[in-house]
Amino acid sequence: MKTQPARRCVVCRGQSEKSGLLRVVRGEGGLVLDREHSMAGRGAYVHASPACLSRMANLKMWAAAFRISASALEIEQVRKLMLEAVKTS
Ligand SMILES: [Zn+2]
Repeated sequence: MKTQPARRCVVCRGQSEKSGLLRVVRGEGGLVLDREHSMAGRGAYVHASPACLSRMANLKMWAAAFRISASALEIEQVRKLMLEAVKTS
């Protein structure tokens, strides 16, 4: 078995194994938190850390990650889910 492939956090641009990151997917209904890292579609990763989660409200970094602009509301909604996921894990 190889080690897990590294993924880059869109907030701080640091690389980590997938287990230390939360995955967000751009679905038809907007941004979704991909808890199992198994959803199809373009994904972006953010560290499961308060520092990165608090800084992810930057719209430009999401536009760059998904090549589609996301609304501030969408980002705030998915950010809440991510904060919940960090608390409960
Ligand atoms: Zn980060």
